[in-house]
Amino acid sequence: MTDILVPQGSPGALGLPRPGTGGDPPSVPNVPFPWACCHSVERRSGAGPPGGAILPAVTEPNHDENHGGALGSRLNWLRAAVLGANDGIVSTAGLVVGVAGATGSRSALLTAGLAGLLAGSMSMAAGEYVSVSTQRDSELAALAVEKRELREQPEAELRELTQMLQTRGLSEEVAREAAEQLTERDALRAHASVELGINPDELTNPWHAAWASFLAFTVGALLPLLAIVLPPGAWRLPVTVVSVLAALVLTGWTSARLGAAAPGRAVVRNVGGGALAMAVTYAAGSLLGAVGV
Ligand SMILES: [Zn+2]
Repeated sequence: MTDILVPQGSPGALGLPRPGTGGDPPSVPNVPFPWACCHSVERRSGAGPPGGAILPAVTEPNHDENHGGALGSRLNWLRAAVLGANDGIVSTAGLVVGVAGATGSRSALLTAGLAGLLAGSMSMAAGEYVSVSTQRDSELAALAVEKRELREQPEAELRELTQMLQTRGLSEEVAREAAEQLTERDALRAHASVELGINPDELTNPWHAAWASFLAFTVGALLPLLAIVLPPGAWRLPVTVVSVLAALVLTGWTSARLGAAAPGRAVVRNVGGGALAMAVTYAAGSLLGAVGV
């Protein structure tokens, strides 16, 4: 994992998309990749820093996520949760349908499904924990650099802040005045907000992110697990396939709506992916079952 630390004027670099968390990177403006964005938005969901209030709409796409506001943060969190649940649904459904292709044993299905649920949710949580911890370390390092620069070259930092406010649409005079006021009130907070997109009081908590991933995956995984073990023998597969596909319609539609994208294609992709996963594992399970492995 490479978290590139670029302390000066490159907020986007601190919110790199995370590898391996699944989900469908949306091609929607203003809605960053869900897992990456939700890390960086959580800390912005509270009261904004003084700098945040005076900043007009920004023009660089990189900065959009820094000013999404509380509603945007909540939507992104919700969307991340839906996609996490989606992962739980698809991977557990593929697992239990594959086992069902090989055996009709309820205890085998339960064991496989439960193991898949626990392995998947813990893997998601661990990945999230590591990733958010790394991001947090990067943010702390960037804040330390900023603090040192403010101590050692306050004039240059004031000029820098002025310029950054100018690029956001303030006239030189107003930008200078704003920069002076912000610096007087809380220089580090102003630079953290304007330069880095960080609120120093609300750095993302790796444990929160890990728990959120764990829960989202578990909720999703419970559906195919219950659908395969509860019904009587002949009904297991049809019930599982139908309920999984229905759930995928719902998660695909919801995540697209939350991302302000047209839901039609998202639903088709989502359902198609889930159906393919179940078809492939069922074929593999049936093959193994047929040859008596
Ligand atoms: Zn600075």
